[in-house]
Amino acid sequence: MRGHILATSLTTFADEARIALDTLAGRATGLFSPSLRLGVTGLSRAGKTVFISALVHNLVHGGRLPLFEAQKSGRIARAFLEQQPDDAVPRFQYEDHIAALVDDRIWPDSTRAISEMRLTVEYESASGWNRMFSAGKLSIDIVDYPGEWLLDLPLLGKSFNEFSREAFEMAVLPVRSDLSQSWRELSGTIDANADADEMTARRLAESFALYLKACKHDERALSTLPPGRFLMPGDLEGSPALTFAPLPGLGDGRARPGSLHAMMERRYEAYRTHVIKPFFREHIARLDRQIVLIDALQALNSGPAAMADLERAATEILACFRPGRGNVLSDLFSRRIDRILVAATKADHLHHESHDRLQAIVRRLADRAIARANFTGAAVDVVAMAAVRATREGTVKQGKETLPVIIGTPLEGERIDGEVFDGKTETAIFPGDLPDNINAVFEQADAQLQRSPPEPPVRFVRFRPPKLERTAEGVTLSLPHIRLDRALQFLIGDQLA
Ligand code: GDP
Repeated sequence: MRGHILATSLTTFADEARIALDTLAGRATGLFSPSLRLGVTGLSRAGKTVFISALVHNLVHGGRLPLFEAQKSGRIARAFLEQQPDDAVPRFQYEDHIAALVDDRIWPDSTRAISEMRLTVEYESASGWNRMFSAGKLSIDIVDYPGEWLLDLPLLGKSFNEFSREAFEMAVLPVRSDLSQSWRELSGTIDANADADEMTARRLAESFALYLKACKHDERALSTLPPGRFLMPGDLEGSPALTFAPLPGLGDGRARPGSLHAMMERRYEAYRTHVIKPFFREHIARLDRQIVLIDALQALNSGPAAMADLERAATEILACFRPGRGNVLSDLFSRRIDRILVAATKADHLHHESHDRLQAIVRRLADRAIARANFTGAAVDVVAMAAVRATREGTVKQGKETLPVIIGTPLEGERIDGEVFDGKTETAIFPGDLPDNINAVFEQADAQLQRSPPEPPVRFVRFRPPKLERTAEGVTLSLPHIRLDRALQFLIGDQLA
């Protein structure tokens, strides 16, 4: 999917005019109270909820953020939560998430739909000139939304017949064919030209959704699976706009009125008009900055096919933010999102010697995605980080050798070499190293989409959130992290200069 294809058919003129007006209005109010809209996305379980919770907690509680310049130089007077500007969007449940993380030491509930919160920072400008003119106040509207929904945007440029064709092409890839088999078999018994029938539509939609969900499963860890609401329905569960599926054997011909083909096509159109477009118009088109979280470790562990799939997803995601030239919409975009951070999360599963390798892998992935997405104009950076650091480092002597280990409390039920953990005991784990030859990861991915993954490079157990230290006065210290400050500096540092 290339950006320029998107651009030609993304929205109608009326949509564009509305977006232009919204944007102008947004900018006008921005003059009085400077605000920045920060989008946080990533596929499910990538770490969005944990990232936002940790970011806000560290700012509000003055956490250790040496690479975040404004904080380091003591220019931040205070950071606090305010009412968000959009009344119709659910609020990000920050307090619940922090209570889970800090008090109960359990991971918070993951993102299932869009949510938002406003964090306001009062600061002193670094330059005397700016100090005279600026109020030294910045409101950051943090918008959390599932990456699955973003991956739907390319569908705006595809007809139902094209969508169907691509879905069947993807489904027979070696890494997917076994998972898609029963849906394909069911589809094989269907005559698209027969009279429309609700039960057939439902059976097909359910079988198709089951296949998509299976792809997402841990061992397979695949990423590109539109339509996104089949995995993350939000409040649309069971609605007709979600009761469709690709149909086999469609050429470019038109559907016979009254046929199953016509019915599915109409629902696909409804999905585009009533689900994808409003989401794009009301949320994506208004963003200033964006962080895309990826679970590169899981993909690495699942093997080359999962890496190739993650790269395809990253390409499509980046293409969404820059839908090509020659379109009012894209012009708006090019002035809006000016910084994108691609962040590999959960780096605390690795010893620090591997952090730079992880970052290098993400850089390669992002560079290739940028090149493929025909993408220019925004600054893109990458980071390997842990929004919440659940482990610390140590060494273990084994004979004459000293091995670097990570130490943490594995979640109850996690296992390594047959040992099952109870969720209470701290354990030292030798996590393994990422390959120092980064190319190897991608060459394998290029070679072919293999089915059986090679030996996973990293031993992966999930840990409980860390126990927070308290000071003598009983104040809880902020959440530990890895390079969260670097992410913050790139995303908002310049706005606090
Ligand atoms: P979301 O679906 O993108 O909102 O994902 P979450 O933020 O809920 O994260 C999913 C899971 O990944 C969590 O339940 C944690 O188990 C794990 N996780 C996320 N971020 C971190 C991190 O920084 N460190 C560690 N150790 N685990 C993390």
